Amino acid sequence: MTETDIAIIGGGAAGLSAAIYAARAGFIPYLFENVYMGGQIANTDIIENYPAMGIISGYDLIEGFISHLKKFEYNLRNAEIFEISPEKVIKTSKGDYKAKAVIIATGARPRKLEVAGEESGGVSYCAVCDGNFYRKKTVAVIGGGNTAIHDALFLSRICEKVYLIHRRGEFRGNIAPLRELPNVALVTDTILTSINGGKKVSSITIQNVQTKEVRDIQADGVFAAVGTLPNTEFIRNLGITDGNGAIITDECMRTSIGGIFAAGDVRRTPLRQIITAAADGAVAATYACAGIEG
Ligand code: NAP
Repeated sequence: MTETDIAIIGGGAAGLSAAIYAARAGFIPYLFENVYMGGQIANTDIIENYPAMGIISGYDLIEGFISHLKKFEYNLRNAEIFEISPEKVIKTSKGDYKAKAVIIATGARPRKLEVAGEESGGVSYCAVCDGNFYRKKTVAVIGGGNTAIHDALFLSRICEKVYLIHRRGEFRGNIAPLRELPNVALVTDTILTSINGGKKVSSITIQNVQTKEVRDIQADGVFAAVGTLPNTEFIRNLGITDGNGAIITDECMRTSIGGIFAAGDVRRTPLRQIITAAADGAVAATYACAGIEG
């Protein structure tokens, strides 16, 4: 079993920030990433709210995080994590590790729509990844938060027509930029009830929750943007999550188990942004390192 001072699980904004802070504190952290570095940022078109960066692409922002970390010594392991024990033994697809401190920064994944037709393959959970497949076509974006609004804006530049379908009358985010766009239709107080046509979507069925009116609208694709679920299935044994699967921490990012910390979208937090994830990573690494030093 490989022994290390500090292990960081996840290579998004929180994990990369934690690794930078741990390395600057004189440790050589192990950073575990299963797929690719960057997490959800890598799938984000344009970021406008990371201070001092102005308007920057997700790709460029994450490249900045990674090149910053590369100035320091660290160990990257591309491995899947199967389990973490309360004793901080980490079982991975590349062997077992024992750490003095673990920072869980595995982020979150898109929530599913859970409507008929979703599983037949015609639904995308990433407008930036798949938008181009719908060039000059008609698509529906489902959701009323910032992701849905950003996705609708992004798709309005590619698609002929974009329906933004939200279950309530008020949006969570700022829809002002969408209001002036001739090819975007805001459909409020409306739920999606089915996606029709199989892998090649032909239409969707929607229902107005006030009038109960049901109608079909022609659509070639559906983009789900109804929030996220924390990636915590592999640590459910630890009993540190809430009813939604988010890890509960204190303000120092400590969980209820000594030496186990959480940072970013994976934890219960009132704001899930890149800056809050990065800040969480900094706090978690600072207190994790302090705990190791004694
Ligand atoms: P979110 O803010 O949680 O919004 C999810 C939306 O989906 C809500 O409007 C919700 O409706 C709707 N919804 C949830 N379950 C649904 C269902 N089963 N059927 C239909 N609609 C459903 O999620 P998000 O938009 O992914 O954003 C997550 C966090 O990232 C937020 O803090 C957001 O501000 C942030 N973010 C920021 C930016 C930015 O650039 N500032 C960009 C993207 C995301 P209700 O409103 O009725 O609950």
